[in-house]
Amino acid sequence: MTAVRKNYDIPALRRLDVAHHLPAQQDYKLIEDMGGSRIVTHAEGCYITDGDGNRILDGMAGLWCVNIGYGREELADVAAEQMRELPFYNTFFKTATPPTVELAAKIAGLTGGKLQHVFFNASGSEANDTVFRMVRHYWKVKGEPNRKIFISRWNAYHGSTVAGVSLGGMKAMHAQGDLPIPGIEHVRQPYWFGEGRDMEPREFGKLCAQAIEDRILQVGPENVAAFVGEPVQGAGGVIIPPEGYWQEVERICRKYGILLVADEVICGFGRTGEWFGHQTLGFTPDLVPMAKGLSSGYLPISAVAVSSDVVEVLKTGGDFVHGFTYSGHPVCAAVALRNIEIIERENLVGKVRDDVGPYLNAALKRLEEHPLVGETRSIGLLGAVEIVADKKTAARFGGKEGNAGPVVRDFCIDNGLMVRGIRDTIVMSPPLIISRQQIDDLVDIIRRSLDLAMPKLKAL
Ligand code: PMP
Repeated sequence: MTAVRKNYDIPALRRLDVAHHLPAQQDYKLIEDMGGSRIVTHAEGCYITDGDGNRILDGMAGLWCVNIGYGREELADVAAEQMRELPFYNTFFKTATPPTVELAAKIAGLTGGKLQHVFFNASGSEANDTVFRMVRHYWKVKGEPNRKIFISRWNAYHGSTVAGVSLGGMKAMHAQGDLPIPGIEHVRQPYWFGEGRDMEPREFGKLCAQAIEDRILQVGPENVAAFVGEPVQGAGGVIIPPEGYWQEVERICRKYGILLVADEVICGFGRTGEWFGHQTLGFTPDLVPMAKGLSSGYLPISAVAVSSDVVEVLKTGGDFVHGFTYSGHPVCAAVALRNIEIIERENLVGKVRDDVGPYLNAALKRLEEHPLVGETRSIGLLGAVEIVADKKTAARFGGKEGNAGPVVRDFCIDNGLMVRGIRDTIVMSPPLIISRQQIDDLVDIIRRSLDLAMPKLKAL
């Protein structure tokens, strides 16, 4: 069965959007003033199409997730087959379904080493909630109940649930809902361009890792449960830590017997040129929350890979009273399995590592000649462009942080490229199937948008 294009009444949909729909992470008044959201009606490969007929290169792979691109008929077929066979069953009643078990085994094969056990959820936020409860429970069962504190980083993103926001380091999110919850400590992020340009990157990375050890000693190592971090911060602005940072973090965690959690919700499934970001960056976590690329966003599913050492302890603690109706949903699991099969069949991980990843890096480097570009950085198919008013001092437009990203982003979208503007950066995370030609288009549109934005930025 191929997709049937429907005819939508777009003005009517936009009116209904304003009247009834509350979109995610949004200013509802702004949407009202816009006359409703942009309605995206269909997509194919690396392009989305909106209700006004604009065809837009999707530099964000949806929301860092559509790794295999849009329009994969076989995922629709697999979902339909599984729905016919068994649309739902739970994993509460000492029960499991075939796709769920097969997917757990498949993930364990990809994470490798001691990461041999998998807990399913529906979203990245839930995966981090699972980590939060599982880690605290683990320490209690192990006989060290004081180990409750999580150390995380400012400007990290770990989700939008109560634990997710709390683990995250977004101050604007903390301000809504009286968060973080107690027991979470935030330390500085390894953001060299923004916070460490007066130092050698490696030295700066070491300093940022040292901040973790300092905090451990301050709160008492006997009280610390885990350190959690994204291998590469995504929503914080594609912050790629300096070389050696993660090795230091790992050494510090091991020194004090603290669990190491790699939030791979964005970095997983080929994004950085290996299956997981921790493999690219060379460290070994104890727990790995993952989502997004697990199903390429075709259905909501997330997972936490857990080391055998942790599971052996949990086995001595009776029921772990945690889990969701949709933990291990058979249709989502079947789709995720086929998605992984496609990534393998098309060698998308190798393609990112050896071909399009380095190609994007080189194309972005050429953009550094632009007068508004302070730095470009990328790893695999995660990239960022830092916009500055002054290349020498890295001063920002309008004399403060955060003005430039949204302005340049809007020009990019108007010129046919979906990217995100985070503070003063443009970030990108295109589908892993992107071609070299499409990468050229992507970078050309950013270049043109920087030119177009220049008068507006200078007037700030
Ligand atoms: N962790 C990270 C690193 C993420 O980037 C995100 C989402 N962008 C989440 C967790 C939360 O995932 P979700 O939106 O699926 O809850």
